[in-house]
Amino acid sequence: MNILQECQGASRIAITGHVRPDGDCVGSCLALYQYLQKKMPQARVQVYLERPGEIYQCIKGCDKIDSQCEDTDPYDVFFVLDSVPERMMEPAKKLYDMARKTINIDHHISNEGACDISWVVPDASSTAELIYELIDKEALDADLAMAIYIGIIHDTGVFQYSNTSPRTMEIGANLIRYGFDFPKLILETFYQRTYLQSQVLGRVLLESIRFMDGTCIVSCLDRKIMDFYEVEHGDLDGIVNHLRNIKGIHCAIFMYQTGVLEYKVSLRSDEWVDVSRVAAFFGGGGHMRAAGCNMKGTFHDCVNNLSLHIKEQMESRLSALEGEKTGQE
Ligand code: 5GP
Ligand code: MN
Repeated sequence: MNILQECQGASRIAITGHVRPDGDCVGSCLALYQYLQKKMPQARVQVYLERPGEIYQCIKGCDKIDSQCEDTDPYDVFFVLDSVPERMMEPAKKLYDMARKTINIDHHISNEGACDISWVVPDASSTAELIYELIDKEALDADLAMAIYIGIIHDTGVFQYSNTSPRTMEIGANLIRYGFDFPKLILETFYQRTYLQSQVLGRVLLESIRFMDGTCIVSCLDRKIMDFYEVEHGDLDGIVNHLRNIKGIHCAIFMYQTGVLEYKVSLRSDEWVDVSRVAAFFGGGGHMRAAGCNMKGTFHDCVNNLSLHIKEQMESRLSALEGEKTGQE
């Protein structure tokens, strides 16, 4: 796909991502925004996203994001990044429906492609990596490089998760040549937590429960506790990774309450479980090792339902391994 060719003649271009935007979503939307502004100065380019967390305010263009979507004029091109169209924020959907051309750029394996043009590459570490591949490199400057870099570090856990490829590292190397302060960016947007965020993390770890012979772990924050610590969903990013990092754990579940008997669920795993399949069963999606969904019911209902699917995958892997062993004997 050639972004500029697809946008040829367009005077109004919109860009959006998913609800509760994370680093990859904000980084890739603002990278595309900066790129189109540079290459098509005559066009109006607008980013529609829920307000990104404070840590993302350092990205150029973050202050231009519109979270209200009160515009009623149709767009010539409407980009959906890092998400299936159904997962964009509600107010942007009417503009999406009116758009003359819709383009989806994503790396989620669960994305089946619903736009006019779909560019879904599950092997890519992040949507930001895809944006890097799709742009003319001569447009890169420190601001654009930084927006892409933020996207990549957030989805790869700073080049650590299994979605990091040699190509991801090459792109990272090319980006830091533009001279932005990458150690500061990694510290301030990825590792640093406020005192309250750290306390909540401590609480989640303290109250976690292991099950299935200690191979799975779950922890849950209810609304009361979130209010007590004055934290919102954006303050909880990365917590699930601390559960996954515990020795012996194959699958980690972190849940927080979003309504009466409603939870947002984050799943992480190693090679024992494909959590994108588990999440997809409950209407969510994601990647093999990191996925999410929304669930209804009590905490125990949700865990019971999730664990049935996790157990099934673990058992079939175990019997496959045993089969291999017997075959070798
Ligand atoms: P997280 O647990 O960090 O919210 O999400 C992990 C991965 O799963 C991310 O790539 C995220 O985009 C995806 N994901 C999380 N929740 C959902 C969901 O409700 N639907 C879909 N399709 N993907 C999700
Ligand atoms: Mn992503």
